[in-house]
Amino acid sequence: MQTRFTAAQLEEPAMRASEGILRNCVHCGFCTSTCPTYLLEGDELDSPRGRIYLIKDMLENGRPATADVVRHIDRCLSCLGCMTTCPSGVHYQHLVDHARVHIEATYRRPWADRWVRRGLAAVLPYPARFRWLLALARAVRPLAPILPARIAAALRLVPTGRAVRPADSDRVSDPPASTRPRIAMLTGCVQSVLGGAANAAARRLLERMGCDVVDVDGCCGALTHHLGLAKETHRFADRFVAAVAATGAPLEAIVVTASGCGTHLKDYGFAFRDETDFASAAARVSELTRDITELIAARGLPAVVNPGRLRVAYHSACSLQHGQRVHAAPRELLAAAGFTVVEIPEGHVCCGSAGTYNMLQPELSRRLAERKLAQIAKLDVDVIAAGNLGCMTQLATGAARPIVHTVELLDWATGGPKPPGLR
Ligand code: SF4
Ligand code: SF4
Repeated sequence: MQTRFTAAQLEEPAMRASEGILRNCVHCGFCTSTCPTYLLEGDELDSPRGRIYLIKDMLENGRPATADVVRHIDRCLSCLGCMTTCPSGVHYQHLVDHARVHIEATYRRPWADRWVRRGLAAVLPYPARFRWLLALARAVRPLAPILPARIAAALRLVPTGRAVRPADSDRVSDPPASTRPRIAMLTGCVQSVLGGAANAAARRLLERMGCDVVDVDGCCGALTHHLGLAKETHRFADRFVAAVAATGAPLEAIVVTASGCGTHLKDYGFAFRDETDFASAAARVSELTRDITELIAARGLPAVVNPGRLRVAYHSACSLQHGQRVHAAPRELLAAAGFTVVEIPEGHVCCGSAGTYNMLQPELSRRLAERKLAQIAKLDVDVIAAGNLGCMTQLATGAARPIVHTVELLDWATGGPKPPGLR
């Protein structure tokens, strides 16, 4: 694609990076066939190619974002399915990230939208605040039918079931021995409140594998990043990098059980590449970050003492399959643990969770969830497994089978407790 940025514009690193991305696009449109919003809406401007044109026009002409551009960019899930499909290697992720920051800098959203987004950024990354919000949401959920659509949609996502923090009794090994590999585990923000069972399973499994696990608490910044809030995202990254440094060296890996966060951490190196004092520490975090299944596959699954013998519909989170290109590890590990892995038709299409998307775009999100659940309903399975809390929460709104994190099944098969709800 030809571009016409001025030399002055290209002095800005973000603009230079976006120009390089735009030049790679050859307008072929292959990406439209796998874009969830194009599948639903059939509108070119809700396809990757259409959005690329909108972003190019906005950035190249130095224009503030318009309501029309914002509508189409907001509808993008950042599922990155288009990057998997694109034959020209267009890095849509970095382009849409830049567009989101530009939108937040140049566009004044309607007040309701502004407050919802600010509210999400002020609550979700902070576990204590998020626990309060959850308690409140559970209390008012019966009122959902008479509340505004966006609030009702958010209330539907509030889980009723397990929210388990790893307790000391979850530890299966002796206190750390200095010769054992040290793994830092991101406990996360929302993940630490709702995904405690997955974190506990990951810890048990890693300890069973002979590793020492060091917690790194707090938000990695993925949530504010998706909202286009550059300053807040940087602040979370600063804190996270400092928390990793505080664990002390050497670290073999930073392991993540929420693949949305994993994708964000793996991009720190790019995001902060121009910051002299921070770039190398950020790049180091990216180098060390592994999805939990990547790390288990690399180090070897511990002995299987309780073969799974269940049929598992494996839901491949977009952040894992498109963002991190992790395909084989979860499937092969589940099979090695004795489970029968069943592929979900249209497995490349997002379930509509996508960070805060299911709260900000409830209608499109609901349609994608229904589409995914309809595909799962065709399968003869006992359980659904996924590697991302957001997807698990989204699918729980209508799945007829229990939903667990992949690592919970692997932990169970290798000596951990049986996840609740399984037969
Ligand atoms: S990230 Fe997903 S929703 Fe956005 S343009 Fe690409 S395929 Fe479409
Ligand atoms: S598939 Fe790639 S090159 Fe083709 S239109 Fe989409 S982004 Fe551009």
